[in-house]
Amino acid sequence: MLKYNEVQKELKKNPRSWLVTGAAGFIGSNLCHKLLELNQKVIGLDNYSTGKKKNIEELLSLYPQFEFVEGDIRDLKTVQSLVQGKDHVLHQAALGSVPRSIAHPLDSHDSNVNGFLNVIFACKEEKVPLVFASSSSVYGDHPALPKVEDKVGQPLSPYAATKTIKELYARIFAQTYGVHVTGLRYFNVFGPRQTPDGPYAAVIPKWIGQILRGQTVDIFGDGETSRDFCYIANAIQANIMAAFNGPHNPSGEVYNVAAELQTTLTHLYELIIEELQALNPKINPPPPVYKDFRAGDVRHSLANIDKSRRQLGYEPTHSVESGLKEAAVWYLENAQL
Ligand code: NAD
Repeated sequence: MLKYNEVQKELKKNPRSWLVTGAAGFIGSNLCHKLLELNQKVIGLDNYSTGKKKNIEELLSLYPQFEFVEGDIRDLKTVQSLVQGKDHVLHQAALGSVPRSIAHPLDSHDSNVNGFLNVIFACKEEKVPLVFASSSSVYGDHPALPKVEDKVGQPLSPYAATKTIKELYARIFAQTYGVHVTGLRYFNVFGPRQTPDGPYAAVIPKWIGQILRGQTVDIFGDGETSRDFCYIANAIQANIMAAFNGPHNPSGEVYNVAAELQTTLTHLYELIIEELQALNPKINPPPPVYKDFRAGDVRHSLANIDKSRRQLGYEPTHSVESGLKEAAVWYLENAQL
């Protein structure tokens, strides 16, 4: 099996065509960026529901050959016309966030399940292999740590339910129609372009944004809640490796995408402060305030990535610290965001 640097060389030599859904979002825009850097033919799709026009404008200014369609994965015709003739589909479009799904379960279901069904159906019709974004939330209430792919519990939120349904459809489409489909269970991905604004922002960009504005950070729970924070470069690698090295027999397999490192929220806060202060010693926020636990949140999360290593050739390049170092630079440069 080729290693990541060999895969990149091979792709550069023999470019392929890719559809990236959710291209205006955090992971999708970074994925497009990497693929374009590798001279790939890339078309992005997004309805801008949570994604940013700025991400697309930046990609278009750097890579004029990049193509973008403003459209919705819930529209089968749009999806089918874009899937046609591609070598790969990397499906990132979805409404993220557990709290958002609790507030708006119908919207989450519509984009995450109905939209996904269109994408996988189009991939079946057009015989195009699919890699899609699942989530560590699928592990739900299963107590085992670290998380191993075949031991899942009950989902704890509508968001987790949508990701579980996606995985179920993936297996069914693989078994029934022979679709080549691979699910990636992302564990708390972070990095440049992840939005710090709004009620549903992820913890790292949200805290960085608050710290840069001199605001107090709220930590939900006692600070001992832990996550396996995964830098964006690792998630990108997993997508490219899954597309390139992924099982070539239809199976609907799912893989953990993480750094395999457990970090508590209190420690995460300290690391963020450290990285920001290293860049700007004047940063001196008030101490964080501990609040009630949030509904639907799992207590601990840590991945076992043996299966991804073995079957995809995935090997994370970034720890939480080295990822935060790179991300902090970007957030300081884009502080107006
Ligand atoms: P994001 O919100 O930045 O990106 C999602 C993109 O999908 C947005 O640009 C949004 O406009 C687009 N989108 C949503 N509904 C759409 C629709 N109906 N039609 C077209 N486009 C639509 O989120 P992200 O963090 O980049 O997440 C990407 C994927 O990874 C999602 O599937 C998410 O559930 C999954 N995921 C992310 C994380 C993480 O830590 N960021 C963790 C687990 C899973």
